[in-house]
Amino acid sequence: METALSPTSGEQYRRLSLWWDGLPGPLGVRAGLPGDLEVDVAIVGGGFTGLWTAYYLAEADPSLRIAVLERHVVGFGASGRNGGWCSALFAVPEAKLDQVGGAGAGAAMRRAMIQTVGEVGRVVVTEPIECGFAHGGTVVLARTGVQMERVRHEVAEAKAAGIGEDDLRMLSAAEASAMARTTSVLGGTYTPHCAAVDPARLVRGLAEATERRGVTIFEQTEVRAIRAGAVETTRGMVRAATVVRATEGYTRTLQGEQRTLVPVYSLMIATEPLPDAFWDRAGLSRRETFADHRHLVIYGQRTEDGRMAFGGRGAPYHFGSAIRPEYDRDGDVHEALRRTLVDLFPALADAEITHRWGGPLGIARDWFTSVGLDPVTGVAWAGGYVGDGVSTTNLAGRTLRDLILRRDTDLTALPWVGHRSKRWEPEPLRYLGINAGLRLAASADHAEEQAGRATWHARALERVIGG
Ligand SMILES: Cc1cc2nc3c(=O)[nH]c(=O)nc-3n(C[C@H](O)[C@H](O)[C@H](O)COP(=O)(O)OP(=O)(O)OC[C@H]3O[C@@H](n4cnc5c(N)ncnc54)[C@H](O)[C@@H]3O)c2cc1C
Repeated sequence: METALSPTSGEQYRRLSLWWDGLPGPLGVRAGLPGDLEVDVAIVGGGFTGLWTAYYLAEADPSLRIAVLERHVVGFGASGRNGGWCSALFAVPEAKLDQVGGAGAGAAMRRAMIQTVGEVGRVVVTEPIECGFAHGGTVVLARTGVQMERVRHEVAEAKAAGIGEDDLRMLSAAEASAMARTTSVLGGTYTPHCAAVDPARLVRGLAEATERRGVTIFEQTEVRAIRAGAVETTRGMVRAATVVRATEGYTRTLQGEQRTLVPVYSLMIATEPLPDAFWDRAGLSRRETFADHRHLVIYGQRTEDGRMAFGGRGAPYHFGSAIRPEYDRDGDVHEALRRTLVDLFPALADAEITHRWGGPLGIARDWFTSVGLDPVTGVAWAGGYVGDGVSTTNLAGRTLRDLILRRDTDLTALPWVGHRSKRWEPEPLRYLGINAGLRLAASADHAEEQAGRATWHARALERVIGG
């Protein structure tokens, strides 16, 4: 099976994100499904999850007929729009993983995630995929007394769990400032387990690597429903013994999956390329990704071409889990992000913000990321990564390979395998609960900034809308 890039232009996708805008052109679009088809494995969704799964399956068994079905173009979703933290972060706390998988399950997951960052690094070198992969780690700053308390607590907890200084260490104010010279630095933490990447170049390069292994990718092909042994699309029926759902924040578009994962928007901005004089002072010399210890997640990276790319959650959840192009841009949230960035780095007050964008990520009702295969129906899935999918999708791809090939491995024994989350509440409960949680996290930060003391417990958002 072969699909050539059609002459149809993909240039309109450049406005999806900074990363899309920077892709070397011209941007083609792959052909859609030509009609009914039979394959061994049909994968729905052309983001990191779908493509890593296809990549590792084709590598393990080149005789498999594998098709990826993508509604738009590969990398259209979160995979082409994110903050580019390829990190060892996993959305489920270790204690919860231990409850599910027994003592040691959380630690096994942690080790698997650390290896995964290295595995992505290996593939980008061997294929090769030019995506500016820089394994510089992550610095998380404490900029208030309350945030510093959180640092101490996190490091003490890590130590108690047997996590050594090589994996997570506390930074003094001087050490933290030397890495990222923001205002008001009191200290922080550093982990080496993160690489900054250009996610669009990674996902688009991965698609090409997957095709080189014989996988067929159909773009402009919308899937309506997944059933045992079949995928119903707007262009024909695909029959396959195994079907993989890899649709993350867009899962609600599939028949019967409206309450499986909610789409929650994360939004980003990027500056123009900044002069060396700025970076000489700001630091991030190894392109460490950075954040601080506030409740509402923020994340930043120094891009390969010297911009600041910076994002955060805080956009409202939209009634009925709606997903619309206009939700990618929210003037108030983008302006709040700019103000936060300038608060961190006042020298950026006059820097031009050249890009503003966003996209939906997927969250399960119990905030439990999962991967699995139903052996009876042959339907597999992976997702609910919250905001930590850039590397976790790679682990999902390798795990799905083993599950689909019916191999019992260390990967298939990890505690996220086979987990089933309950469904989200019907509206309007879902809307009220999620937005109350989002507001609570924002107001907790605001209260701390004003009062300089702990008003709310850490991770208020997760506790309010978590399971
Ligand atoms: C702004 C933002 C910043 C983020 N930052 C980070 C970060 O720094 N680090 C990190 O680890 N994670 C981050 N994330 C999360 C991360 O990007 C995702 O977890 C990851 O990309 C998920 O990959 P995926 O392939 O599962 O989903 P997606 O990339 O969303 O892919 C799903 C694909 O399925 C297609 N699709 C959906 N429905 C259908 C259908 N019915 N028929 C056919 N195709 C369909 C979509 O078009 C899409 O291409 C961020 C997310 C966002 C939105």
